[in-house]
Amino acid sequence: MSNGAQRFSASAPGKVNLHLGVGEARSDGYHDLVSVFQAVDRRETVTLVVQDAPPVSTGSVVTGMTTTFGVRCPEEHIDAPFNLAWRAVDAVVDEYRRSGAEVVTALPPVHIEVDKQVFVAGGMAGGSADAAAALVAADAYLAEFAGSELGRDTLHRLAAQLGADVPFSLMGGTALGTGRGDELVEMLTRGSTHWVFLNPKVGIPTGQAFGLLDDLRHNDPALVPRLGTATVARALTRGDAHELGRAMHNDLEAAATTMRPILVEILAFAGALPGVARSMVSGSGPTIALLCRDAAAAEQVLGQVRERYPDYESFGATGPSPGAQAAQ
Ligand code: ATP
Repeated sequence: MSNGAQRFSASAPGKVNLHLGVGEARSDGYHDLVSVFQAVDRRETVTLVVQDAPPVSTGSVVTGMTTTFGVRCPEEHIDAPFNLAWRAVDAVVDEYRRSGAEVVTALPPVHIEVDKQVFVAGGMAGGSADAAAALVAADAYLAEFAGSELGRDTLHRLAAQLGADVPFSLMGGTALGTGRGDELVEMLTRGSTHWVFLNPKVGIPTGQAFGLLDDLRHNDPALVPRLGTATVARALTRGDAHELGRAMHNDLEAAATTMRPILVEILAFAGALPGVARSMVSGSGPTIALLCRDAAAAEQVLGQVRERYPDYESFGATGPSPGAQAAQ
């Protein structure tokens, strides 16, 4: 990497599910989801650093990547071509090369830097945020070196191909997601939400959580899918944290707590703290999201949670936050 190299940066938000309704298992093994997503201002930043090397006309423009961890570094090595940020840059360049431009310009190689602030495999869509930020950064790089960009609509199409949560990471704000969670409609909100996120040191493989939910439903007829979102929508427009807390729901929480009983204890402890409107497992977990009454309460709750669980990672964040956007 040469000093003074050209850089293209973008950031994208982590997310919390205010509602996650999981339909019955379909014959193809997938579940229809009804999800209310909110983006929070805990953001990932992705930077493409242009390399001082000959431009390329075929194959990947990515020479490598380096993730810097503001959260616990996972055991697995993620700076590899399977990384969603890497795949997003490849997707943008492939789309440009396929787009029928009369002359396809050779493009300079890039190294990807990721500043990771969202828990890895925590159920907060950190990898999807990296993908969304990489899409936006790669489009700015294209505009510079190919003289044309793909634009937001094409980026949304590529986002859906990269993963179910990527379109929301691109869009941000608060949205209702149906289908795989990637058919999105913006939702009205009033004011801000104030959160504390806590990541217990347990892994929950998403596929296993869905499978267990199917089993639990088989044995307990009370565990019906909750697919309605009217109460959450109403609470969001009123901007009342306690009303929103009562309306929040996650069908997967039963599976997460059955798999990892420690979550039951944490949910009960955190849910009883003054100023907490609701404690809930975020998405497929294991992250626990604590919705707080206001910013001051969130600060206090963060302190109490850290005192009680010094070994677990935690941070505060505010929602809603914008989707992927260019950064300096
Ligand atoms: P979701 O909330 O969308 O289910 P998550 O936040 O639980 O996602 P991620 O951190 O996005 O989970 O990633 C889960 C797995 O995806 C990782 O264990 C890793 O193998 C792979 N992965 C691919 N790209 C990335 C990335 N950029 N950051 C983290 N993990 C990635």
